[in-house]
Amino acid sequence: MHTHSVAMTATDHQDLTRHLLRPDGQEDICLATYSVSTGAHRTSRLITSVELPRAGEREVHGNASITGGYVLRVAAQATRRGSGVVMLHSHPGGRGWQRMSTQDADAESSYADLVQQLTGMPLVGMTLAGNESWSARVWTEGRAEWAASVRRVGRTLVTSWNDELIPSIADTTTQARTISAWGEALHRDITRLRVLVVGVGSVGLDVVQRLAATGILEIGVMDFDRIETLNRDRMIGATRRDARLRRPKVDVAARLARQASTAKTFTVTRHHDSVCSPTGLADALDYDVIFSCVDRPWPRAVLNTVAYADLIPVIDGGIAIDVFESGGMRGATRRAQTATPEMPCLACTGQVDMTEVALEMSGDLDDPEYIRRAGRDSVSGRPNVAALCAAVSGSQLEQFVSLVAHPAGLGVPSALRFSLALHHLEHLPHQTQPYCPTESQIAVGDARTDLRRDGSWQHFRRGLRGRFNEVVDYWLEAIANSGR
Ligand SMILES: [Zn+2]
Repeated sequence: MHTHSVAMTATDHQDLTRHLLRPDGQEDICLATYSVSTGAHRTSRLITSVELPRAGEREVHGNASITGGYVLRVAAQATRRGSGVVMLHSHPGGRGWQRMSTQDADAESSYADLVQQLTGMPLVGMTLAGNESWSARVWTEGRAEWAASVRRVGRTLVTSWNDELIPSIADTTTQARTISAWGEALHRDITRLRVLVVGVGSVGLDVVQRLAATGILEIGVMDFDRIETLNRDRMIGATRRDARLRRPKVDVAARLARQASTAKTFTVTRHHDSVCSPTGLADALDYDVIFSCVDRPWPRAVLNTVAYADLIPVIDGGIAIDVFESGGMRGATRRAQTATPEMPCLACTGQVDMTEVALEMSGDLDDPEYIRRAGRDSVSGRPNVAALCAAVSGSQLEQFVSLVAHPAGLGVPSALRFSLALHHLEHLPHQTQPYCPTESQIAVGDARTDLRRDGSWQHFRRGLRGRFNEVVDYWLEAIANSGR
């Protein structure tokens, strides 16, 4: 099923709220422009700019109305930028997801054709209730198709849900303790978020199970890798048999998530893919929050663009263990941060090094000869300790709770760095760098910087690991499937 969603930055939400929820309690109306973010199964319209009415362009008289001139002005602006038009009005007395009154439907449908003809994109209609809850629909061929959700994205993620399309289901018995932590209404909102975990190794595997136990209804897991004996000292729950059969990590993650889940209806979707591939990226764009549990620069860079361009917060984390050349542990550094509008991106905080990204894209980072000549450590063979992984997943999950439950109303913190030797936690002082290319692309959607791999992911893998491995993988998978 294909769904619609609308997202906006928290800043645009504030501007719109200030205009639409008037001190005198009357309804008001205004226009905005949007870009498109195309996922595999969801199309999101992202608000790119709020275009408030100029003098004489709208009238407030109980039911607010706008002039054709205002619509033409904003449609012309949208066309120049390749954007669409959003018409927004308020129901100050309303609470929750608002339906359309007859007058609402008449007003929007009377402009829908004109806007479609001028911009080549459907008109999006939105209603803001008095409690700051949004609803949205997309006008195609004279009909309004309802969106499933409207997301407000910044240091906090606040989602308005269309209960008819995404029903609220909570298990008030099993999840009683969770609900008593943040309240039933918020619990019903949080558990409906579609959460993707990219990389289900030592950290991602733990994150998935805790999200499932929290009661999240729909979780996606993405990883192209398979379990090996070498992984078993960190992947809690992966068995000897999983390693012997070299099961895809997503299969093991899905199995463990189902076991941990407390939701009445639970869906876990496996993406045996990389977020750097065109298909992996399209799948990622269907989600509301993404955990980045990868240890490589390229997928991190892709997720960094998605956080800003597509308004999908990315919760990143990792650990680096520092070893003396003579052997023995010098220390370990754990980091966690959320890439989201209003906060500096992963490149600005030094968590993604674009030079490394270029090296990985060219294949050099996986070329033993290059690594030897450059005197570097291999990316894949770095030391890691299961006893420390729980702290990494823990700090990423804390960021998640700050993002969606915003204790004390604060939202996510600045990037955090923990040094194990001294047990010292720092709030890193990073600011957005001047000319940051990622944060200048907020809400551009499909116009984001394209970091995807050309051609198919399978083709790349063949070059990387050899045809032989693929044949072995195929047979192992066939054996694993027959044994289930
Ligand atoms: Zn940046």
